[in-house]
Amino acid sequence: MSEKNYDVIIVGGGPGGLCAGMYAARAMRKTVCLEKFLTGGQIALTGDVEDYPGFEHILGSELAKKFTDHALKFGLDIEREEVADIYCEGDDRLVRCESGNVYRSKAVILSTGGTPVKLNIPGEEDYSGKGVSYCAICDGAFFKDKVIAVVGGGDAAVEEGTFLTKYGSKVYIIHRRDQFRAQKIIQQRAFDNQKIEIIWDTVVESIIGDDKSVTNLRLKNVKTGENSDLEIGAIFIYVGFHPNTGLLKGQIETDENGYILTNDLMETNVKGIYACGDVRSQLVRQVTNAVGDATTAAVAAEKYIEKLEDKLAQRV
Ligand code: NAP
Repeated sequence: MSEKNYDVIIVGGGPGGLCAGMYAARAMRKTVCLEKFLTGGQIALTGDVEDYPGFEHILGSELAKKFTDHALKFGLDIEREEVADIYCEGDDRLVRCESGNVYRSKAVILSTGGTPVKLNIPGEEDYSGKGVSYCAICDGAFFKDKVIAVVGGGDAAVEEGTFLTKYGSKVYIIHRRDQFRAQKIIQQRAFDNQKIEIIWDTVVESIIGDDKSVTNLRLKNVKTGENSDLEIGAIFIYVGFHPNTGLLKGQIETDENGYILTNDLMETNVKGIYACGDVRSQLVRQVTNAVGDATTAAVAAEKYIEKLEDKLAQRV
């Protein structure tokens, strides 16, 4: 257990956190990024990335490594820590971790991203890790030549469904409406892929299996009310995600969906606390947004600290 002093603390080591860390460290601010798992965030779990400028095609895991290496090069400290809570003591912002360590700084940048939404249907939890997955890049290879189902109609479902055709003998994309919300280019790729069959207007009511793994899905057509069974070897669920704001409940203002509200300087309602990336309330959630937000947050935090230092110097 120890108390460590920094100028800037970043909570969350996804693209936003790493970019904020790179900027703050490059501005010669002593900066730490607290990440409970591995750096890279959701992008590290994504297959192909082809909408990050300058990279026509790159694996998500490679891009995540580049972000990490770049930030480290400018002196960002990265600590494996799970944050328990964040609080204020005068002008200081303190971050207490589950390890018992406390980090003290003048500014905190929240880049905590989101967690995949669950369907909350029978069988989902029982077969999690036994054919139920939320990450194609992590688990797709386990289902080579199997029939795979993907649930959802957003960018993630349709893109990862296409990615999973690398492994599966067939991929069903099951969507509750009769059109996707995914970007047109992502949709077109799925429509053109011979291995993909789309099951429209349908929800998964339950996930069925034997004592080892998933074997079937119980489906319901929401227009006709008809039930059917689909034999599968795996199901990948991509029905959105929730922002990770649990540790700030009650302190930081959020929108009605729980995403953190900021102004255009990425300032939250608490002075010295900034937010960037997927956890922030905004129209789109892309890596490009996250790094844009993070740049603003890091520069705004730097200016805020400068002002605080001037104020303290005048008091002496
Ligand atoms: P999303 O855009 O929120 O889409 C969630 C999908 O799941 C929607 O099609 C929704 O159906 C469906 N859904 C939600 N709850 C459901 C339920 N209980 N049962 C069945 N279906 C349900 O989430 P996402 O695809 O995970 O994307 C999240 C963010 O990341 C988005 O901003 C997205 O643009 C971004 N992203 C971008 C890329 C890329 O640009 N390459 C890749 C991945 C993610 P409805 O359509 O009927 O609401």
